[in-house]
Amino acid sequence: MLQEDIEHPVKVLIVGNGAVGKSSMIQRYCKGVFTQEYKKTIGVDFLEKKLQVSGEDLRLMIWDTAGQEEFDSMTKAYYRDAEACVVAFSTIDRASFEAVKSWIGKVEAEVGSIPMVLIQNKIDLVDDAVMTKEEAEELAKEVKLKFYRTSVQENYNIDEVFKYLSELFVQRL
Ligand code: GDP
Repeated sequence: MLQEDIEHPVKVLIVGNGAVGKSSMIQRYCKGVFTQEYKKTIGVDFLEKKLQVSGEDLRLMIWDTAGQEEFDSMTKAYYRDAEACVVAFSTIDRASFEAVKSWIGKVEAEVGSIPMVLIQNKIDLVDDAVMTKEEAEELAKEVKLKFYRTSVQENYNIDEVFKYLSELFVQRL
């Protein structure tokens, strides 16, 4: 097999407090669907998405926290060998915004420094935002992560987030 034909499997995590939209985002990105119905987990460990970035074939395996985040019981297996991470907070949930640094800390403690991106989801609800645009941008600057505003509901910026994360991953190959 030629070197160029290799498909790289990439374990991607989505971390953040409960209800910020992690499961919805995985379903949207991997299956192209969005459901209003509150769904705590997608019932599987991860969903897959294939994409090509900078001439490299990637197979993203995107892992959901499966609703364990409230109990601080994320298992070692969840973090093990993770190679990229989306850190998410919600426009309408101040606690999720304030938890961002501790999520980043947890990931770094478990797997070290890996490509990461920060997202503010539910941007369709911006009129009900519980943090200002400046606060969110300040946080992104502080944690030194590229920052996207997303809406899983409106399918806004979702592909872009994973494309950017994949580019960071490929740069390290
Ligand atoms: P998780 O606990 O982080 O996995 O969050 P879920 O994916 O279960 O989403 C929690 C709730 O937020 C569900 O009712 C979703 O339909 C809703 N939700 C997810 N993303 C968005 C979004 O971008 N906009 C709006 N308005 N609701 C969203």
